[in-house]
Amino acid sequence: MAGRKVIVVGGGLIGLSIARALTQRGISDVLVLERALLCDGGTGKSSGIVRAHYGVPSIAKLSWNSVPTIEALGSDIGFRQVGYSVIVGDDNAEPLEANIAMQQGLGIETEMIAVDELAARWPYLETSDIAAAAFEHRGGFADATQLGLHFGQVARDNGARIKQRAAVARILTSGDKAVGVELTTGERIEADDVIVAAGWWSKALLAGVGIDFPCDAYRSELLIVDAGEPLTDLPVISDLVSLQYCRIEGSGQFLVGNSDHDAPENKFVDPDHYSNVASEASIEKYGEKVMHRFPGFPDPGVTHTYAGVYDVPPDWNPVIQPLAEIQGLTLCAGFAGHGFKMSPAVGDLVAELLLEGDSTDPDIPAADFRLERFAEGKPLRSLHPYVGAGEMR
Ligand SMILES: Cc1cc2nc3c(=O)[nH]c(=O)nc-3n(C[C@H](O)[C@H](O)[C@H](O)COP(=O)(O)OP(=O)(O)OC[C@H]3O[C@@H](n4cnc5c(N)ncnc54)[C@H](O)[C@@H]3O)c2cc1C
Repeated sequence: MAGRKVIVVGGGLIGLSIARALTQRGISDVLVLERALLCDGGTGKSSGIVRAHYGVPSIAKLSWNSVPTIEALGSDIGFRQVGYSVIVGDDNAEPLEANIAMQQGLGIETEMIAVDELAARWPYLETSDIAAAAFEHRGGFADATQLGLHFGQVARDNGARIKQRAAVARILTSGDKAVGVELTTGERIEADDVIVAAGWWSKALLAGVGIDFPCDAYRSELLIVDAGEPLTDLPVISDLVSLQYCRIEGSGQFLVGNSDHDAPENKFVDPDHYSNVASEASIEKYGEKVMHRFPGFPDPGVTHTYAGVYDVPPDWNPVIQPLAEIQGLTLCAGFAGHGFKMSPAVGDLVAELLLEGDSTDPDIPAADFRLERFAEGKPLRSLHPYVGAGEMR
């Protein structure tokens, strides 16, 4: 194993976590190639929400296993452990209870919370249309870029090299083996392993070696709302009634994201050329949802907006796999707006797959994340899906 040369394509959170995990296990000849600057892609736009509430057990466990790393870094990565709450209407009360029971079975610290208690604890909230709610006290939010840069630093400290402004043009192969990459400058770099962690852009790199990675680019708009007074005690909220998610931003502001993924204008955008502000129609629509859910805000107003792009496979779950077709080529992408919170455990999983050949956590079967599942018609789906709640998995 020592002396194994590894190239990681993509200096976002996932590529940097993989570099960190490999170097921590003694693979020090790791080169991260980033076409722009570190964390310049989806990572730089992340809302940084931390929670383990997912209906796919392996995804919930990847997220849960990541919590201790995020807690240990704490304020160094801007972590605020304000808790996380999911709120649902009548139609989703049963799936919520089933998901909480499943997550508790995995050891996740989460519980149902009475709606009255929710109202008493957070008086800003409108609760008349909430039928059931759950609370994760170890949830919260942090800064994705700072976590990515931290992983990059740990990787460097352990011997990795990071090259920015180094765009990979193609993966080099010899027979059915990956042997390195060629940069857009024409420079060729050899390696024993090539790991593609380039978010949505992974699709084109894989197409270059004849592998189809079905992955769409999906635009997501965010609003920063000023509540009119400082907000200090609100948990992160996934509102599955109004289809929005929200958290505190800074001291007196509020970040609101859209969880309604049906808007056709947001699908299939070009991630290199997209509008970085919310449309007037979105501001009006999301603004109304905020006013409905938080009628207690004294003087709310939208201060600014922006947008980011998710890398979205058909089942909204990632591919994490040393690929069967080409030896030495690993894909780790398709996190569909959820990769921040699980990034520590994802890096560890990739290192385990490369060095030990399998996942070491029985609750995280490597088979869940195979690329072949799409062609086989076996998507990775929630055990207890929410009705009409987009892809809250
Ligand atoms: C608006 C938004 C909100 C989000 N909110 C949350 C959240 O609240 N919680 C959560 O868990 N997750 C969230 N996410 C998702 C999470 O941030 C991402 O899943 C995660 O940061 C993705 O990391 P990545 O490394 O896979 O991709 P990226 O950060 O996109 O990194 C890929 C990198 O590859 C580089 N690259 C591309 N092509 C090449 C090439 N040919 N050669 C070299 N480099 C290349 C890119 O420049 C980029 O830096 C959100 C994402 C967005 C967009």
